[in-house]
Amino acid sequence: MSARPPKQEQEQASGEISEVAPGVLRAQLPIHFPGLGHVNCYLLEDGDGVALVDPGLPGAASHKTLVERLRLAGFPLRRVHTVIVTHSHPDHYGGAGRVAHETGARIVTDRRFRLMWDPAEPPDVDVEELPDVLDRHGTRYPWSPPPWGGEGIDFSFRRKVELRLARRFPRLMRTPTPTHRLDDAETIGLAGRDWVAVHTPGHTDDHLCLFDPAEGVMISGDHVLPTITPHIGGSGPNPDPLASFFASLDKVAAYGDDVSVALPAHGHPFTDLAGRVASIKEHHLDRLATIRDTAADLGRPSTVREYARNLFSARAQGGLADSETFAHLEHLCLAGEMTRVVDDRRYRYVLND
Ligand SMILES: [Zn+2]
Repeated sequence: MSARPPKQEQEQASGEISEVAPGVLRAQLPIHFPGLGHVNCYLLEDGDGVALVDPGLPGAASHKTLVERLRLAGFPLRRVHTVIVTHSHPDHYGGAGRVAHETGARIVTDRRFRLMWDPAEPPDVDVEELPDVLDRHGTRYPWSPPPWGGEGIDFSFRRKVELRLARRFPRLMRTPTPTHRLDDAETIGLAGRDWVAVHTPGHTDDHLCLFDPAEGVMISGDHVLPTITPHIGGSGPNPDPLASFFASLDKVAAYGDDVSVALPAHGHPFTDLAGRVASIKEHHLDRLATIRDTAADLGRPSTVREYARNLFSARAQGGLADSETFAHLEHLCLAGEMTRVVDDRRYRYVLND
């Protein structure tokens, strides 16, 4: 029996530069996350120089690769005038601070861009006194155990150190600070034409897609990926990220035939955006159906982990599977189908009668 072919998003970063739309080049930068082998950095050229979308991970190695890729594409680093970050995950924002520091480029994000340790609302208190983010469940997740009880996401030791350093020493670590925050439907000039900001919360609350009506290009970030579904977690400030994700899927699908190509943050460009959206929605509706069936089978209030066992393969069990299960369970609670009970500091969920 042959092994399952790797998903597109898992492929190692290739050194190839390809033109994926008029004036838009795709470069790939190496990343090392479970299931992800590269992140796409898009290069959009205009008369003033070049804009980058998602310049990869923080650190010297990724920066060096980025500079090499740019050179291969014919751009010295100093020609970068804009860095766009699709959302607040380190494989997307990580390289932005250093590029901006070395070039003076502006950093453009969604209006709601926030790093995981930034307060959800502007704080009344002195920033020095501010503890880690206290989310609506009253924990300091992901630094502490998750609100639903049990184990959290297993960040590697190195990642934990990186995150803590980025939080404590933002200037030293070149943690990026946005200079331009785009509102939904605001336009921005890139590659010599106007692109529309499409606010697409779900994978994160601050996710930004960009649509180019002239050439029909949708930069889809992690919101719509070609062969995997983005992680929908439940531990941020949004009480129902799955509902937001569904709405954001409908929002990009509504562009319909106006989209000739979608450019994801991982994997290859693809053409049938609306079709891909439909299958991602179906995947989550299937998960919700599995949760209802599981709840009926269990017949008693059950933990997130108990539900996750039926939703994910043995190989996929762990903190990420739990947080995604949590988001689905909370969605069903807010829809009035289930109830959360807190028992021995653990959340348990049961179907309503
Ligand atoms: Zn992401």
